[in-house]
Amino acid sequence: MPKYAVGVDLGGTNVRAVLVNEMGQVCSYSRELTKSQEGPDGVIAQITALVRLVIKEAGVTNSQVQGLGIGLPGVIDSNKGVAITLPNLKGWRDVPVGELLEDLLQLPVYCENDARMAAWGEKIQGAGRNYQDLVCLTLGTGVGSGIFLAGKMWRGYQGSAGEIGHLTVVRDGLLCSCGNRGCLEMYVSGGGIAHRARQAASRDSTSQIYQAVGGKIQEISAVTVYKAAQADDQTALNLIQETADYLGLALANLSNILNPELFILGGGLSNGWGELLLKPVRKVVEQRAMSLNKEVKIVQAQLGDKAGVIGAAEMALSL
Ligand code: ADP
Ligand code: MG
Ligand code: ZN
Repeated sequence: MPKYAVGVDLGGTNVRAVLVNEMGQVCSYSRELTKSQEGPDGVIAQITALVRLVIKEAGVTNSQVQGLGIGLPGVIDSNKGVAITLPNLKGWRDVPVGELLEDLLQLPVYCENDARMAAWGEKIQGAGRNYQDLVCLTLGTGVGSGIFLAGKMWRGYQGSAGEIGHLTVVRDGLLCSCGNRGCLEMYVSGGGIAHRARQAASRDSTSQIYQAVGGKIQEISAVTVYKAAQADDQTALNLIQETADYLGLALANLSNILNPELFILGGGLSNGWGELLLKPVRKVVEQRAMSLNKEVKIVQAQLGDKAGVIGAAEMALSL
């Protein structure tokens, strides 16, 4: 009997699910806006419905599904299947996601940090296929990463390695949801960019960012910046350069520590901005990293917004 696996990617903005076959090919896919305001119970119910939907859509029975992998945006105890803290989702503290989903779905469930699941996807099927030493960054509502050293995923002593979004890039900078000040995430996540874009637009009402929202500054998002940059708006281009400065600084530090061969940039933001962001990031890393560490390649993720779900499903297949 053919085997299948389900992958789920929970984000602060979107929740996605796929069903894949034994070869990791996607048979069905679904995406919804995360009902984050409904708290853990509501979101668990939403995930359960989404999983049932992708299984049904693919015409597969529950007994053919080998397991479920789920990526969660925060610090996860993957041995116990517990979401310890999800900084970008309200009310999530020590939620036994694995146990809850196993009861509801009657499937073995494996929980892991979302950015690590995306990195796993890119390593198995995407831009990281032919590399052993790489870091895959995900820029979305938050900023995370998965680190591979000598071909193996690096989880760290307690499983919380790779929190690149919480590298301090501004001493005494903006207060982050993690409690620290000046974290990278406060400047280069979707929300961080929107925050800087609102400040820039309120200083300059001639900017296309300001014009695009008819002066309703609160409606500005990273997508607004993207559209304005495509029309060569100087304020938008400056914002992208500033983003590249912060990100490049963090990547140069990482390159000096790990000497990876490859950085992969994925997540809603880098998938959207693409080379507009990658080009200036490469320059900053070249300027800041030391000696051989300048040579790290920096490329776009290949699985787009499905990296996380595919990684989660591949993880479930590999267990
Ligand atoms: P999450 O996994 O946290 O739900 P995603 O990886 O789906 O997040 O990315 C959502 C974020 O990406 C939002 O902050 C959104 O503003 C941003 N985004 C999506 N498309 C684009 C684009 N074309 N340009 C810039 N930012 C984008
Ligand atoms: Mg995500
Ligand atoms: Zn932080």
